[in-house]
Formats: sequence, structure tokens, C-alpha cells
Amino acid sequence: MSPAQEPSPSPPPGDRSPSEFRAAMHRVADIAADYLECGSRYPVVPHIEPGDVRKLLPSAPPANAESLDALLDDYLRVVEPNTTHWNHPGFLAYFAISGSAPGILAEALAATLNINAMLWRTGPAATELEELVCDWLRQMIELPPEFRGHINDTASIASLLAIAAARQRVREYDIRRHGMAGRPDLPPLTVYCSEHAHSSIDKAMITLGLGLENLRKIPVDAAFRMDVGELEKAIAADRAVGRRPIGVVATAGTTSSTSVDPLRKIAAVARREALWLHVDAAYAGSAAICPEYRRLLDGLEEADSIVVNPHKWLFTPVDCSVLLTRDPNTLKEAFTLVPEYLRTSESGATNLMDYGPQLGRRFRALKLWFVIRAFENPGALCPGAGI
Ligand SMILES: *Cc1c(COP(=O)(O)O)cnc(C)c1O
Repeated sequence: MSPAQEPSPSPPPGDRSPSEFRAAMHRVADIAADYLECGSRYPVVPHIEPGDVRKLLPSAPPANAESLDALLDDYLRVVEPNTTHWNHPGFLAYFAISGSAPGILAEALAATLNINAMLWRTGPAATELEELVCDWLRQMIELPPEFRGHINDTASIASLLAIAAARQRVREYDIRRHGMAGRPDLPPLTVYCSEHAHSSIDKAMITLGLGLENLRKIPVDAAFRMDVGELEKAIAADRAVGRRPIGVVATAGTTSSTSVDPLRKIAAVARREALWLHVDAAYAGSAAICPEYRRLLDGLEEADSIVVNPHKWLFTPVDCSVLLTRDPNTLKEAFTLVPEYLRTSESGATNLMDYGPQLGRRFRALKLWFVIRAFENPGALCPGAGI
């Protein structure tokens, strides 16, 4: 290689020195604060076409290590301006994901600790904080103490876990062991939701092998709420032909119109029919923290499981979705599996890997802990105001 082609001196092998990291982190603080200070500096949606971002970047990975400043320069040049700005005051699409300063700080610290809280032993503080903040959220939305929560990435996954628990509760078919294929003894297992339920429920049916055909879309009333009479009819019709109803998904805050299904009435049907009731309150659940809105979700406390996304209306940077359930044992039964290399000796400790298919998990509780502590709790400020 001729001297002219020689690359600029590479940083030493291994991670960056603490002093270089510290300097870059200070620059990150400035970049982040500048961005948040001027939320409307960019248009909400960048005026670009698909492929324009790739054109600004080399197609092959760099051969030589680059400086942290070079990376941050390119972040400012390529990433920030070519982003859809969910933080923008004019962003009115979907249900906003609402970050906040305390949440951002916690994300940086969670990446710094870089733990994997699959077991209590591998993440004691993360495990216990996760249980604590889910319980704080439970209290803030006035659910009874038997609800226990854990954090997932999205409501889609939380609802999938809830439907898996509904399937697990049909114990006589032991689907966990025998699966569902090639079983003449196994009737089609049906789940009910309104025709305005979120598409994540359909996806859960696909993923769990229950099948879209076995998701009954119940008609709605004039206010787009599930028609409970139609729900009862559909359950009876399915039973009459030998199908096996296992669960109902009610929506508290639909994506299409913000309607809230009649939770208390649906809960009564679910109890009578021995069906798992899951409530999808992905964005509206956070509103229940305000006493004046909690009553709009009357009957929420009757559910078997509820999903609330703090990353939607609760100032927590994406991703953070809480699944609360009054039957954590059935959820655990559906998923727990402890190979030899994950056996630990603590008794009575929660191992978060038991509550879903994923083993590794991010430390998401830290940001929710920061957020809940950094803002006032309207329910605690005026207890009982809405009830
Ligand atoms: C946003 C939303 C979902 C999906 O949320 P993800 O966390 O992106 O999976 C599901 N249901 C409702 C009612 C929603 O508002």
C-alpha cells in the first residue's frame, strides 16, 4: 500500500478508552438535547423516496475502524434529517410513542449495564425492578393486587402470550406436550374479538397455530363496541357444532375509533363460559392512570390479562409493553422450561424467562422506573377522584 492510500490511524483494538467514550457521550448529550429542544426543526416526514438513504451510504462495510466523531457526524448528516419525527408536535399519526428525558437517560444506562435478566441470578436488580414497576403500574390503573406483570417488547407479543395462556388453560388436551397437529381428539379452539380488534390478535392466531378461521370477529354496535349478544350467540353456535371456545379478546381503545368494548358484560360471559378474557388496552390503558378516565375502562379489573404499552402514552421510549395477569401460573405453565445450564439455586425468586418464549431480555424496567418517578401520578394526587 502506498503512503497516499494509507488509512488514518486506527483506534487500538478492543473497545474505546473510557476517556474517548466519555467525550463522545457528552457529545451525544448535546445532540439529544438539541434535538429535543427544537422538535419542529424538521418536517414531520422527510421529503425523500425509498432508497434515498442507502444512496448516501457506502454499500460495503468499512475496512478500517472509524472515529466516534465520524459516526456522530454521519448520524447528524444522514439519520436525523431522514427520519419520520414521532417527537414532532405535528406528528398526529397512529398513537404516538411518547419518549421523555428520564426514559432516554435510562436507555443509555441500560445499554451501559448490558445485562441479560433471563434469571434472577443473571439480573437481580432488573428482575426485581421489573416486578416492582409492573406492580406500580397495576396500582396506578387501580387493578387488584393479584395481577402480576412482566415487560415485553410490544403489545403484539403480549397478546400472543395471553392467547397462549388461554390455550394452556384447556388442560385436558395438553397441547404443550402433544401439539395440535394430527389429533382427531382435538376440536377447533376458538377465540372471540370484535371486528375492530387490532390485527395483532389475528397474527397471534396465525403464530400459535390456532388459525385465522378460528378467530371469530363479533359485530359491533353503533358506537363500535363489541355486541355482547352476538358474542353469546357465536359461542353457543360454536359449542353446538363441537368447537371449543377458549378465550375472548376485548379491546379498551380500538385503533380505528378509540371505542371501548363493554368489559364488565364481556367478563360476565367469559366467566360463565370459562373463557380466558384478555383486554387489549395498548394505548388507552395508560389513560386509566387519570382517575377521570379510569371509569371509562370499567370492568378492566375482571380480566384474566391486560396489555398496556407505556411506550405509547406513558412517556417511555419504545419498546415497553406490560402484560398484567391474574393467572401468572398458567402463563408460566405454558412457557417454563429449565435446561441444566439455567438451573440456579434461589428458591422463591422470579426468573423472567419463565413467562414467554424468549430467553434473553433487555433491561426495560429501568426506563419505566425512571419515568414513573419523574412525573406526577394524577391518581395519587387526587385519590378516588374519578370513582
Ligand atoms: C398499538 C396497538 C397494538 C400493537 O402494539 P405493538 O406494541 O406495536 O405491538 C395493539 N393493539 C392496540 C389497541 C394498539 O393500539
